[in-house]
Amino acid sequence: MSSSVRVPMAKLVLQGTPVVPGVVAAPVIRPGARLRPAIDTTEIAEDARDAERDAFRRAADAVAHRLRDRAGSASGAAAEVLAANAAMAEDRGWRSAVEKLIGSGSGAVSAAVAATEQFAAMFTKLGGLMAERVTDLHDVRDRVVADLLGVPEPGVPTPDVPSVLLAEDLAPADTAGLDPALIVGLATTLGGPTSHTAIIARQLGIPAIVAVSGLENIDDGVFVLLDGTAGEVRVAPDRDLAAAAVAEYRKHAERTASWRGPGATSDGHAVDVLANVQDGAGARTAAQTPAEGIGLFRTELCFLNRETEPSVEEQTRIYREVLDAYPGAKVVVRTLDAGSDKPLKFADHPDEANPALGVRGIRIAAGNPSLLDRQLDAIAAAATDTERRPWVMAPMISTPAEAAAFAAKVRSRDLVPGVMIEVPAAALLADKVLAHVEFLSIGTNDLAQYTMAADRMSADLASLTDPWQPAVLTLVARTAEAGVAAGKPVGVCGEAAADPLLACVLVGFGITSLSAAASAVAAVGAKLGSVTLGDCRAAAAAVLETADAASARAAARKVLG
Ligand code: PEP
Ligand code: MG
Repeated sequence: MSSSVRVPMAKLVLQGTPVVPGVVAAPVIRPGARLRPAIDTTEIAEDARDAERDAFRRAADAVAHRLRDRAGSASGAAAEVLAANAAMAEDRGWRSAVEKLIGSGSGAVSAAVAATEQFAAMFTKLGGLMAERVTDLHDVRDRVVADLLGVPEPGVPTPDVPSVLLAEDLAPADTAGLDPALIVGLATTLGGPTSHTAIIARQLGIPAIVAVSGLENIDDGVFVLLDGTAGEVRVAPDRDLAAAAVAEYRKHAERTASWRGPGATSDGHAVDVLANVQDGAGARTAAQTPAEGIGLFRTELCFLNRETEPSVEEQTRIYREVLDAYPGAKVVVRTLDAGSDKPLKFADHPDEANPALGVRGIRIAAGNPSLLDRQLDAIAAAATDTERRPWVMAPMISTPAEAAAFAAKVRSRDLVPGVMIEVPAAALLADKVLAHVEFLSIGTNDLAQYTMAADRMSADLASLTDPWQPAVLTLVARTAEAGVAAGKPVGVCGEAAADPLLACVLVGFGITSLSAAASAVAAVGAKLGSVTLGDCRAAAAAVLETADAASARAAARKVLG
């Protein structure tokens, strides 16, 4: 069944990139305007500077404290984002930059604004995940400035009735603090499908769309129908039709909620439906869902804030927590995917003009092989008492030779070697890469980025990095074919596997496992259970005949509903 909504009487429909499925109808609210104080160049008298510095410290402490409190009552990604923003308000580098400016005569507000701009420029230059943190940085600045000026903290108001939140962009800290009972839908002008806002909205289960243009033309209080599956905001729809669309989606959601696994098509073709996790807590949460195992453990996310390499013992403890959450089940550990949007201070990647095309993922091992050796030692040590040998895969493999070198290291520790297919070169030579390893796992986020030459973090390019792009799907199909020919498993662990319709197409290509955020697993499993393998194959053949993402989606819908 299609969960998307067709309401012919709608007056205006805005289109964006769907990130969290769900259909809701409610009035619009918006976040309060943020203060944008200009930098005041009036010099503060020397004897008043200490007081100004104290006021800044008090404000930054108060903001950090409030964010930590909120982190304490949140969980998962939301808690992490709030804690990371609290850490930003406590950051010694940022604070000393502000205090230095105060010391040379700036007022506390102007100093906070100017120092933040210095840091924002630096983060923007680094690109990727660091550039995404600029929104967090500005959020911390706005909270500190509001505190200094004695006005309420900026952010999302608490509506009287369940509402759909429309915003240009949301700070992750704002998203993390949303109450899903009151904010029932979310649409933003900026942000990409893998932005923090999207990730947190997914965790909170709030239907969401990003990269929607024209939202600024919808007034507060206007009734809208938001379809987070189709990526549509329908302005002032017919109320009865909107209610029917919401009810239809609820029925679909109930069917999803009752799905218990294991993954299979309606005619019994088995497919592993797995979860993507980033630590032990995430793995334990996934174990509460029907996810049968872990298809991607992103180990680098455990160490993003670390100055120095964690010891083998510490790594062992962390990896064991994840293995322990799924005793006897399949667990795929990915070695550190450092660099580009996920720089790790201790991984020593050089300053690069173009980090997404630079020394990231497995390429770091060429200059620093012992970092990989120590991580593999830790994974092997963590696996000693487990019932199954973990599968271990390397990110960003480009050549069969890289796969061979990695596999040798993994096999020597009695672990099961595999590699990710994220680079078009590796997809084109998938059969030769697969000859060296036991399995492949396709990272469609990076594969789309590199196939389409479009930054995965860019909202402007979201339509290019759409995994439904037929060029990307052609490479996925080629990789899956290599697996079928070799009789070895080929999974997908990028965001493509979280889209129930696309997941069925992937199975039609010959993909043997689907790994997605734990919250997406049931919808994927339920959809797969409603179609036959023949349907999946027919849809897979149909999308390969198309020339753009919208036609590929439409072709799949026609076959799969
Ligand atoms: C991918 O690129 O699709 C992937 C799963 O890896 P990451 O999103 O961590 O880069
Ligand atoms: Mg990747």
